[in-house]
Amino acid sequence: MNYIVMDLEWNQCASGHAKENARLPFEIIEIGATKLDEQFNIIDRYGSIIKPRLYRKLQSQIRELLNYDEALLRTGRPFDVVFREFKKWCGEDYMFCTWGPLDLTYLQQNMDFYYLKEFHFPLKFYNLQEIYAINHLGDKSQMPSLEKVVTDLDIPIDEPFHCAENDAYYTARIFQKMNRKKLSDMYSIDFYHYPTCEDEEITSQHINYSEYITRTFDSKKEAMNDKNIATLRCHKCNRKLSKKIRWFINNPTTQICVGKCWNHGLICGKVKFKFTQEGKVFVVKTVEKINKTEYERIRERQILLRDRRKEKRQQKKNAS
Ligand SMILES: [Zn+2]
Repeated sequence: MNYIVMDLEWNQCASGHAKENARLPFEIIEIGATKLDEQFNIIDRYGSIIKPRLYRKLQSQIRELLNYDEALLRTGRPFDVVFREFKKWCGEDYMFCTWGPLDLTYLQQNMDFYYLKEFHFPLKFYNLQEIYAINHLGDKSQMPSLEKVVTDLDIPIDEPFHCAENDAYYTARIFQKMNRKKLSDMYSIDFYHYPTCEDEEITSQHINYSEYITRTFDSKKEAMNDKNIATLRCHKCNRKLSKKIRWFINNPTTQICVGKCWNHGLICGKVKFKFTQEGKVFVVKTVEKINKTEYERIRERQILLRDRRKEKRQQKKNAS
């Protein structure tokens, strides 16, 4: 199996969200990729500029970032032509690797816009930025930039950044040099396409956590009433756990709970709500082991939020 390290550049409507096409808010203007074999040798590179169909003018922030402009875009080819060529170049047996979680989502959004054949569902990939953060920094909450990691790993900088072909190449060089322990366990699943019914729901079991991607519901409340979502089970032994901290609203898109398994210790459940274009909601639920410090932090967070709510209620009462 080969690794396709892919990077995209995209443009947005230069005159703001009100004028953008709702089916394609992010229009891809370049596909870049580097192919590695099973032994992580670089065996080929790919790069193509795409002539935009919707947004011919670069949005100002994107223009500042990119090292090319509209003149080059005009020499590009249409998305569907480039995509078919790229797909063929990828071959049959490969795994996508990206720097960050967005590229495959935007790629599929563009594919849908042109009614191109979808990727196999569910789409697994390696988010090398996240894997680097876990294996090198021991922390998933701080995602390092591509430039920073290239510098940290002493990779020679001989081509400009912010061009998809070069960024894919730099990402591939990082992939070669980085710690890849437990790589095969560290795949992500892209959420652009999601389960539409119970049969399509996905449970992926990892060494240190499990992930459950549900079908869609009409509301967050309806989702939290679902037994499979609300029940906390240990990701190691599948035992149903009694909760030490019940589900609480951490922010508008996440809820958290903690339980205890007698064999495997403190287990944290996290529900992330994802909203679809049709106004429905599906859930990505992760279950993982946490330590005492993390447990205390969650407990403090819950108390803080509770106190804040109380205070707000009191203020309302005083005002009326
Ligand atoms: Zn257990």
